[in-house]
Amino acid sequence: MPATTAATTRKSAKAPKAASKKTAPAATEIDLREERLFRSLIRDGSGTIPLSTLVDALEQSGLRLTDDRLKESVAVLNEYPNNAEITFSDFCKITRPNILLIERALRGQFVIPSFSHFRKQVEEIFVSTATDTNGAVADYIPQLGRVNPDQYGVSICTIDGQRHSLGDSEKHFCVQSTCKPINYCIALEANGASAVHDCVGREPSGRGFNELTLNHDGRPHNPMINAGAIMSCSLIKPEIEMADRFDYVMDRWTALAGDEKPTFSNSVYLSERQTADRNFALGYFMREHQAFPAGTELIDTLEFYFQCCSIEVTADMMSVVAATLANGGVCPTTGKRIFDPKTVQHCLSLMYSCGMYDFSGEFAFSIGLPAKSGVSGAMMIVIPNVMGICTWSPRLDRHGNSVRGIQFCKSLVETFNFHNYDNLTGLTEKSDPRQVVDHQVTESTVSLIWAASKGDLTAIRHLAARGVSLNSADYDGRTPLHLAASEGHQRLVEYFIHQGVDLNPKDRWGGTPLSDAKSGNHKEVHNLLKSNGAI
Ligand code: GLU
Repeated sequence: MPATTAATTRKSAKAPKAASKKTAPAATEIDLREERLFRSLIRDGSGTIPLSTLVDALEQSGLRLTDDRLKESVAVLNEYPNNAEITFSDFCKITRPNILLIERALRGQFVIPSFSHFRKQVEEIFVSTATDTNGAVADYIPQLGRVNPDQYGVSICTIDGQRHSLGDSEKHFCVQSTCKPINYCIALEANGASAVHDCVGREPSGRGFNELTLNHDGRPHNPMINAGAIMSCSLIKPEIEMADRFDYVMDRWTALAGDEKPTFSNSVYLSERQTADRNFALGYFMREHQAFPAGTELIDTLEFYFQCCSIEVTADMMSVVAATLANGGVCPTTGKRIFDPKTVQHCLSLMYSCGMYDFSGEFAFSIGLPAKSGVSGAMMIVIPNVMGICTWSPRLDRHGNSVRGIQFCKSLVETFNFHNYDNLTGLTEKSDPRQVVDHQVTESTVSLIWAASKGDLTAIRHLAARGVSLNSADYDGRTPLHLAASEGHQRLVEYFIHQGVDLNPKDRWGGTPLSDAKSGNHKEVHNLLKSNGAI
């Protein structure tokens, strides 16, 4: 939920008593870390901050106020009116219940530290790919043929639970073949890798996803094509009732999506079943080759497969599923372990080599990420240890992959160094939005100076919250205030003034922020500095 919505839905009430000086904690109890966090948000000399500043800072970090991990803090925050000015004591009262997460957010210590900047870059990619109207919706069943082809949603969830959703990201679509990696993981967890791979291979087939073909052992080539996905279904709890099997899979999806429950399209299921000659043929073909485990009920297995394809989610939900895989099986928004890391490793390896129909080799080559597509136009993309992405747009190319989804991925890896092997090439023109851990003071100073020259207040706040001195100077004696003044970043200069930095540092040529503002012809900044005592 955007911060503005959250803020407007908060009830109007008087600030609770904790805001009064009487109940403020004694100075000795004050944790220096909390004080730094609070101070990093101060924008004027009043000693308080608008509540909205805290809400905005959290939102800019990529957290949603609806995030379960913030629930206790949000409950306290909701006791304040929207326009409250909060003291340090209020700040502690609000943040303490979820301080570890909030501290990481305010210190810019998530995997994508400048999330608002990243968001803008992703939005540009979204807008530029939204105009592509090539391709056609799948029409082998009427339910897919009738879908509005113009819809387009993109959602991102990082391994720290930073969220961003664009376009039709709240619309439900059926998962179709994106159920294949999930069912494979479930089958692995239930049976172990060796039992599963007695029944299904792990080679790309080099043939169509639903082709009537098996490998040399009479087994399906891999779990990402239809024959292999039917096999995975046969391996998921065959001993329990059909209804319970389906509930079991739905529960797994719910857990993977951060405790959000998917829906189910009965009409898609009925249509799938009605038009499933090829899948029946594959089933009988495998049975003829005695590929199934002993006792497999073929019709039940096929129906179960059709049901799994008919599960419905939103892009927003599927991005969390992908993020759970990116995070080695732990759901970022709930912190619960859903799959073993080994299970996820196996799954991502096969998504990488076999996940994109007959385009899998090309996708691995040019995009370099594990992904799975489905004929509903869904794509689940995993950037291991970074984020999960879902794109959904129903027009498909000749391979059965979403046209806009593929374009989005192409632009994504042109912009960011997300290709699996970008780290080998040192491709400097791509940006790396990942966290750069700067332990050394010199690096922090460089970051600070750089952020000041670019006018990046968020980054400066993060550094201040980590305890980097805003008076730090580089080798030439240039301070962040010098840079902000010479570039004319008024907001930053105001921030530095209220943070109480030295207004008259001299660089090694004797230059001051005031002289920099003057030579840069930034009159307002010049006046601002002067009226605050700069000489
Ligand atoms: N239900 C479809 C089938 O089995 C899945 C198609 C897909 O998304 O690849 O034919």
